[in-house]
Amino acid sequence: MNKFKSLFLVGIIAFSVSCSKSSSDSDGDNEEAKVDKAANLLATGDSAKDILSNETYDKLLIEIAYVTGFKPTEAAMADFTEYLQEHTFKEDIELIYNELSSPSEDELTLQEIADLETSNRTAFNTGSTLAIYIYFADAPAEGDDLEGGLVTLGAVYRNTSMVIHEVTVRDLASLSSSISEADVETTTLNHEFGHLFGLVNLGTDMVNDHESESENEDGQLVGDNHCNQAVCLMRAELQFGGSSGKFLPSNALAQYEDGVKSGCTLSGTTVLSLLQQNTGKTTNTVPLDAECLLDIQANGGR
Ligand SMILES: [Zn+2]
Ligand SMILES: [Zn+2]
Repeated sequence: MNKFKSLFLVGIIAFSVSCSKSSSDSDGDNEEAKVDKAANLLATGDSAKDILSNETYDKLLIEIAYVTGFKPTEAAMADFTEYLQEHTFKEDIELIYNELSSPSEDELTLQEIADLETSNRTAFNTGSTLAIYIYFADAPAEGDDLEGGLVTLGAVYRNTSMVIHEVTVRDLASLSSSISEADVETTTLNHEFGHLFGLVNLGTDMVNDHESESENEDGQLVGDNHCNQAVCLMRAELQFGGSSGKFLPSNALAQYEDGVKSGCTLSGTTVLSLLQQNTGKTTNTVPLDAECLLDIQANGGR
């Protein structure tokens, strides 16, 4: 508990946001050609309505691509599936597991993660099926500093693509006796998927303004695609400056230079904070607040 607390308090930030549109690679030179991948290469939030409603797609096919030894827990995947059923109208949700060998990297940039997706992804939209790709990595995000509390647990980088740094999830969970690996996995998955739902103001319009703001590189306050309500899964802990007095170290800039942009990179600090909100409750699942629910419902979800 002590260690956990100090990590939490010392935690600086591994959080960066951008609502800009992005997409980098678009090569389709896989052997099997014919598959139209374009619909799965859009920006984070672009498929919010397609995910939430059944208008165009009535099935979700979720490819869980994991490096050998880094498969997510069944408990987390069950909670995650329940969360999808709770907020979308999709009743047909299929998970397929795709075991991959390690890329043997000490750390991964978002561009490397996107390149791995290009090589490894097998599920794409077909007919009325919308495909999602989630990569469970055996390497941390570039620039992580576990001792300083600066770690990235997961990120979204396209309309149907997400990475979970499973190795970091496990490291973080191991620091606390009260928080399990499944808790951290579920919170990370559900938060990041909230961005694929278009939250906050990232493809799904806000019914009432509830977007939080943070400083950009120029010191200006700008909307950061997270929720400003007191208790919400889509909140993010923003601790600019910290002990180093430096603005947001590596992640945002590195990703920008790489050409692939993240809609959200989720920090360990935020996830621990979210889980702490639930202390004393029977479940460790952090819910969406009323404002986020309103937005989702207005864009075809439930
Ligand atoms: Zn986020
Ligand atoms: Zn919210």
